[in-house]
Parts: sequence; structure tokens; C-alpha cells
Amino acid sequence: MHKQTELAQIGNRKDHETGAVNFPVYHSTAYQHPGLGRSTGYDYTRTANPTRSVLEDAIARLEEGEAGFACSSGMAAIQTVMGLFSQGDHLIVSLDLYGGTYRLFEKVLTRYGLSFTYVDLRDLDAVREAATHRTRGIFIESPTNPLMRVTDLAAVCRLAREHDWLSIIDNTFMTPYFQRPLQLGADVVIHSATKYLGGHNDVLAGLIVTATKKLSEQVADLHNALGATLGPQDAWLLMRGLKTLALRMEKHQENALALCRFLENHPGVEKVFYPSLFPREREVQERQATGSGGMLSFRVKDEEMVETFLSSLQVIAFAESLGGVESLITYPVTQTHADIPEEIRNRVGVCPRLLRMSVGIEHADDLIADLAWALDRSQVTGSMN
Ligand SMILES: *Cc1c(COP(=O)(O)O)cnc(C)c1O
Repeated sequence: MHKQTELAQIGNRKDHETGAVNFPVYHSTAYQHPGLGRSTGYDYTRTANPTRSVLEDAIARLEEGEAGFACSSGMAAIQTVMGLFSQGDHLIVSLDLYGGTYRLFEKVLTRYGLSFTYVDLRDLDAVREAATHRTRGIFIESPTNPLMRVTDLAAVCRLAREHDWLSIIDNTFMTPYFQRPLQLGADVVIHSATKYLGGHNDVLAGLIVTATKKLSEQVADLHNALGATLGPQDAWLLMRGLKTLALRMEKHQENALALCRFLENHPGVEKVFYPSLFPREREVQERQATGSGGMLSFRVKDEEMVETFLSSLQVIAFAESLGGVESLITYPVTQTHADIPEEIRNRVGVCPRLLRMSVGIEHADDLIADLAWALDRSQVTGSMN
């Protein structure tokens, strides 16, 4: 079936007793045993919950993987997957990485004896050079956050397989609607479902999908052992959001393209970052995904413009997060990327003139008018200073 159909049908035909079209929320944490040594499949909600199971089956199917796991946040999903590694293991990681992932790796997991090297994964030679005899995994975001660099996932996953590294892809920006990394050779996909999958800025959640039975068993053990599992109410809310993912992603993308065209022609903007704007990124992206999504970044001409620009916006909200129906804009230097050292930020190109936008599903004309007004005002005040 097509993704649109799978998405709209999530939870339907699952509650055989009542025929409920919208799958119910099972709040019960305990489940009665039918007899000694017997189980309905549900014993205790941390291990498995009927509402969460419907969501987990849905994401496994959407990502075309073996099993799905729902966690209490995207970070909880990443932490759970990192439980596959042991003291002394080394991982190669995308250079411009989500700041929270960087913080987990450097501030927490290094204390448990893991080590990380940050590499521009577009350069396979740099990946080979970063490898040590202790390398066990590679953690990839594509397109990256916030500069929309595209990694050739099939090539990197092939390299990982040759070296027996576990390949983990954070597919938050693309969603399985546009990109399915397991089909390109990845071992594990993780999501911050707080973003596009939930889609309405009203639920914090993370998802994991594994490619093989062995990995599914290992992650199931970790999911239960660590206990950062998703509550049934949030699982239900996430399924409610997922049903419209296809429609939303198409609109996010259509609006993002319209905004790129506007921003590229505005004298206050120096450069726009969006996967299909660069020939190399575009070529790789077209090979491995069916779209470029709804995230874009841009550099304004002058750092002085930023403050007035942000305070002049009337539709687009200056707020951290992404992937919801409402357009949001962030300032990576002081927000999402504040925990990344300045030296790395500079190498990556996260500078004080960079703004990152999560394009919502509003009418593109209203978003363009809002940007135009704020850019024009900021250019006037910028030049007065
Ligand atoms: C938000 C985000 C995360 C973390 O997810 P939470 O749900 O906030 O814990 C991880 N990766 C990416 C790319 C994100 O945007």
C-alpha cells in the first residue's frame, strides 16, 4: 500500500472486540494473567502497552523495518539505542548535529567510556580516516541541522557494513514519508516524533525502528530495562498526528520552496540553505529521498539585523522546535546549538547571522509577507546602527 493509505489507516481494524476505528487509550499499567505461565501479550505497561503497540507496529511498517519502539522523547530514543554500545566503543558522528544529541554524547556518554568523532559525512575519505580499531558505530543526520548538508546514506551504510559498524540514522527531518534509511542499508532509524510525526507541537515522543530480528530483540531489552517508554495517552496523540503526515509534508515542502525563492532574491539575505538548492545535495537527495522537506536556513547580511528581524515577525513565531503546522524560527547560535563549542560551530558554519526556519502549513503568501516586513525593518534599523 501507499504511505498515504498506511498513515490514514493507523489504528483502524485493530480493536477486534469493539471495532473502534480510532484505537482506544489503554491506561491500565497491569494486565491479568489468564493462568500460570500464560500472558495475553501484555503484563506490565513498561514492557508492552496495547496502545503503544499499535503505534510501534505503524512506525515499523512506515520505515519498512522489523520492529518499532516508542520512547518518551527523541533523546530517550537515542539514549536507548546508545545502550547497544559498551565502554571503550567509538562512534563516528555527523558534524553539524542536533545540539541535544551532541550534549548527550559529550556530557553524559563520554563519562561511560564512549568516544565520538564528528565528521562531515559527505567526505567518505574523512570517515575512513576518523575510524579507529575501536569504532563500532556511525550516527548520521541527513539533511543535517541546521545547514541541510546531505549525506549519501547508501554509500555510508555500505562503508559501515564493510567495517561491521552499526549505522544509526536520525530521520527526524525527512520522516518515512520522504526517506526510508533502512531501505538504503541502515541498521537503526530513530526519530524525534515531537517534530513532523506528531506535527502539532503538542506531544513529546521518540521512535526507534530496527532492521533485523537480532537488533529488535536487543533494543526491546534495552527499551524495557531503561524504561524511557512512551505513555499511552501520548502514543494515542502521536497516532492522531501521524494520520495526516502525508498531507502535511507535501504542504511544508511546497511552502519551503516558495520561501526559498523569496529569500534568495531578498537583498537582506546572503545565502539560503535547502537541500535542492545545491547541485551536489540535490543529486544525492533525489537518489535517496522523494522530497527535501520543510526545513530551511538562511544567513542575513548583517548580524545587527537579527534582533529587529525576530521581534518584527507577526505570524512566524520565534520559538525552538520544528515540524509543527505553525511556522517557527530559531537562532541556532544561542538556542539549538548553544551547547556546541564555538570552534565546532564555526567549522560547521553555524554563525551569528544564521537563522533556521521550520516552515508551517499556513498560506505561503502570508509567510512571505511576514518575512518581507521583518527583513525590511531589520535592514533599516541595521543600517542606522
Ligand atoms: C528535536 C530533535 C531531537 C531530540 O528529540 P526530543 O523529542 O526533543 O527529545 C533529536 N534529533 C533531531 C534532529 C531533533 O530535531
